[in-house]
Amino acid sequence: AAWISEFVTAVENGRPQAAATGRYAERFAGQLVLVTGAASGIGRATALAFAVAGARVVAVDRDAEGAVRTAERARLNGAAAAWAETADVSDEQAMEKLAEKVATEYGVVDVLVNNAGIGLSGSFFDTTTDDWRKVLDVNLWGVIHGCRLFGRRMAERGQGGHIVNVASAAAYQPSKALPAYSTSKAAVLMLSECLRAELSGQDIGVSAVCPGFVHTNITSTARFTGVDADEEKRRQERTARLYGLRGYPPEKVADAILRAVVRDQAVVPVTPEARGAHLMSRFAPRA
Ligand code: NAD
Repeated sequence: AAWISEFVTAVENGRPQAAATGRYAERFAGQLVLVTGAASGIGRATALAFAVAGARVVAVDRDAEGAVRTAERARLNGAAAAWAETADVSDEQAMEKLAEKVATEYGVVDVLVNNAGIGLSGSFFDTTTDDWRKVLDVNLWGVIHGCRLFGRRMAERGQGGHIVNVASAAAYQPSKALPAYSTSKAAVLMLSECLRAELSGQDIGVSAVCPGFVHTNITSTARFTGVDADEEKRRQERTARLYGLRGYPPEKVADAILRAVVRDQAVVPVTPEARGAHLMSRFAPRA
């Protein structure tokens, strides 16, 4: 059957925001969905997509105001309920507090999206110890905390669920420009596969979603640039040619995240470049 996307578009910050498709409405009605890094970019689009699909949404971010804005918009988009929570995913105690509060006040999470992440570019020898720690703390430890705290409750409840970890095409595409970031994402990819194996008997799916270049704050402020200026220019030209100046929309990544849950996909390269790189990689698709 042809699935037709009905994009719900709201113009905010001068660009179309919100997303997702009515096609998943029944699938997520009333489910509790928690998205980290939900104040902006892919996380925000994902929270809003689940809202359109009728979920109860918990928008988590270290940016408190941003999380509130997402929750407000999620309500307008049709969420069964939406709450904003402030937490730094790299802070274990804060995450424990969050998990406890969510379990007590909202219930056991049905779908967890570990999306919060930070970018960092720079060659291997230019990357300081502090930079390595910062990136691994957020991008890897943030995911570990989420999986451990919310995944355990999911497993104990015994009614299944799904965890989506937002990795990146960088996880399987070596780059001299992003050694720390790529390493953190490769770790997230492997963690997801290991956890998928562990939870498979309990009807809990685990997906690693791997976008290529998507226009969000991370790419505009952290400057996800190649060390090589020519390479960076070619990448920008390619993206502009394919998607126009706004680039690949985060809403389409959100759509891939919902689909990963519905179809229980293990590794999901999202953008065309990410798919191409995936096919060429040692993580080539399997049946
Ligand atoms: P973004 O900067 O727009 O959004 C990231 C959000 O995460 C922000 O709201 C930020 O406040 C939040 N955040 C950052 N650190 C946090 C922490 N320690 N605790 C809680 N919240 C935190 O970027 P985005 O592009 O939407 O990124 C979302 C995810 O997608 C990241 O994991 C990123 O690595 C991944 N990704 C992005 C791209 C891309 O091209 N944009 C490509 C591949 C993967």
